[in-house]
Amino acid sequence: MTTHRRGWQAYTATALAAIVVYLAVPAAPGWESAFSVAIQSSFAAAVLVGVRRVPEGDRAPWLFFGLGLLCTAAASLPVQVGGDWLAVDGPDLSDLLYLAFYPSVATGLALMIRQSRRRLDRAALVDALTVACGIGLLAWAYSIEPALRDDTTALATRLVTIAYPIADLVLLAMTILLVRSNGREGRRAPLLVAVAVVGYLAGDCIWVVLPHVNEGWADFWWTARLVNCVYLLSLLVLTLAIVWPRVRGDGGGAGAVSHLTRLQLATLTLAMLMSPTLLITQELTGGIVDGLAIGIGSAIMFLLVMVRFTQLLKQAERQSALVRELSRRDELTGLHNRRSWNDEFPMFLARARAENIPVVVGMIDLDHFKHFNDTYGHPAGDQLLRSAAQAWTGELRAYDVLARYGGEEFIVLLTGLSLTEAVTAVERLRAVTPLDQTFSAGLAEWDFEEPADDLVARADKALYAAKNSGRDRVCTAGSLLSAAQD
Ligand code: GH3
Ligand code: MG
Ligand code: MG
Repeated sequence: MTTHRRGWQAYTATALAAIVVYLAVPAAPGWESAFSVAIQSSFAAAVLVGVRRVPEGDRAPWLFFGLGLLCTAAASLPVQVGGDWLAVDGPDLSDLLYLAFYPSVATGLALMIRQSRRRLDRAALVDALTVACGIGLLAWAYSIEPALRDDTTALATRLVTIAYPIADLVLLAMTILLVRSNGREGRRAPLLVAVAVVGYLAGDCIWVVLPHVNEGWADFWWTARLVNCVYLLSLLVLTLAIVWPRVRGDGGGAGAVSHLTRLQLATLTLAMLMSPTLLITQELTGGIVDGLAIGIGSAIMFLLVMVRFTQLLKQAERQSALVRELSRRDELTGLHNRRSWNDEFPMFLARARAENIPVVVGMIDLDHFKHFNDTYGHPAGDQLLRSAAQAWTGELRAYDVLARYGGEEFIVLLTGLSLTEAVTAVERLRAVTPLDQTFSAGLAEWDFEEPADDLVARADKALYAAKNSGRDRVCTAGSLLSAAQD
């Protein structure tokens, strides 16, 4: 294990040293390509060595990354060895090899996203598309459209020129998806792969932006050298990611919708500001050239924002429904809690009055529960409360309501029963109470007029009567109904 680690450390140090030396080698094509071919071949070789320690089922992404590295290594060769192999005027083999890097890495990324074992996160997808669309607009205005318009070069060359920014955008979107589908658990491989890909794309961006900043800079040999160093360092990071190949997650985790961090929000805002910024820039510098593209890009981004907005809104609704539900449930037993009872009971009585449905309310209090806790411990007491709630629920009808009113005090709402029938129902509950635990209960029958609080108070009084007359029994409050009828 330690030799393995030391081996990688030594390799990293050597590769870094080689990149530094590469910065200083003479400005002759032979030297330069010798160095970059050597360094990049070592990347591909390192991945091949590293992949042997990766579990067999997890190797595929790394093999594709290795293939991509091999392509970039080979891409430095042909120009030097054989010149333009494919055509006199147009892209050469090296162009195709450089381009082959993108589908290889894209395939690796796709496989890696699949390995994270999460459902495809739609919010992450929308975010990735939004960012890609914003940057895509810039790519269109500064790279793709000028290349398409430039009819002084061969069509094949122009196609290759526009293939780079398009491939960049695809990799960028996939990288965002990869990072988002791995959440915040801090698995290193996906993060390193993401850093590597973004570094590589930064290299591509520099090539596009540089001539716009200063025409002369792009032709300086040291500019190329520096940008190549950005590429080499990125590829080194991609190579080293294989030291921490674990990608697989637990498959769970919250969707990305809930994690709209400030950084993500800032990124999305920036992406969305691309189109107006581009429009203003063009208007101020010689007129709007890409009006149609800017219009289409803006429309797409507006739609993406609306989709994201809807996702967030739906999530907020789901969460508030969940919070509402949780606030009405007793955590321990899962029954309605007192808040829920207090909110709904008066409304229930109003309905029962309208529909002329008889109602009996029962207060149930476990006997000597303090003693049970003292004897068996509080957790056993909790367990008893849970299993009693479950046993009673099983004995009640689906439309009866059982709520936890206090510590070891429950309240039950029985409908459509006379007081005598309600007593029988509660006696059945007594029979199924677990662990020979007993309870006392007080029942009160509603007279269709009595306020909710008074009805509960009468049931409570009957409960005290049950306690005082020896516990383990059901007592009833004198019926207001029969009093009224008499
Ligand atoms: P009585 O027959 O007079 O009702 O006696 P009792 O011991 O049941 O009544 P008392 O009101 O003296 O004590 C109630 C006990 O219920 C005290 C408290 O520790 C226990 N209790 C209340 N809530 C919980 C709970 O959530 N879990 C557990 N384990 N015990 C609880
Ligand atoms: Mg009690
Ligand atoms: Mg009590």
